[in-house]
Amino acid sequence: MDTIHRREYPISMPYQQRSTRRVRSHLIAYGDVCRAHGPVCGELVKLGFWNRRIEAVQVYWVSSSYNCYGWYQGDIYIPAISGARLSDLVMGRQTRLTDVLRHEWAHALADYWPELIQSKRFERVFGGPYESTAKVAGFDPAIHLTKYASTSACEDFAEVFHFYLRHKGRLPVRLAAKPSIVRKWEFIRWMASRIAVIR
Ligand SMILES: [Zn+2]
Repeated sequence: MDTIHRREYPISMPYQQRSTRRVRSHLIAYGDVCRAHGPVCGELVKLGFWNRRIEAVQVYWVSSSYNCYGWYQGDIYIPAISGARLSDLVMGRQTRLTDVLRHEWAHALADYWPELIQSKRFERVFGGPYESTAKVAGFDPAIHLTKYASTSACEDFAEVFHFYLRHKGRLPVRLAAKPSIVRKWEFIRWMASRIAVIR
């Protein structure tokens, strides 16, 4: 679980200039992904989400010309592009690499624990099935943690999971007065309790 894989793909832009030092410093490097990956895996273990089912998930650091980012066919892909562009592509807002990984691990868990995600409980809490790409509701800070969360039920789930890891499972006080978000938070906690007993 501590191995990050590199996947190099040829850069297709023929006139790409050599990056300046300043620009390079904003690129996501292989080492950045390794450094972010360890703590996020530690959070998954500590909060009860690590299980042998997800041991096969790989995290890849890929060239910026690679056209798939995020969670794709069973693995996580982090492109070697700037942090701001990474968040635009993967989550639609500016964020840290650790937060992108937390978000993508939510999609990983969803794929490996379909009996928890394809449930009436999920639909009740997130307003629709995980697979649905339809917008559940317009962005509302009382319901969504981020703007990106309002794009679909599965992104809402991934954003709540990302915050859950970031806050070590403890609901921030400012969110306690938002019943919809409390229910989503409790869903993530319920998932951990199920993962602990289902093998
Ligand atoms: Zn996502």
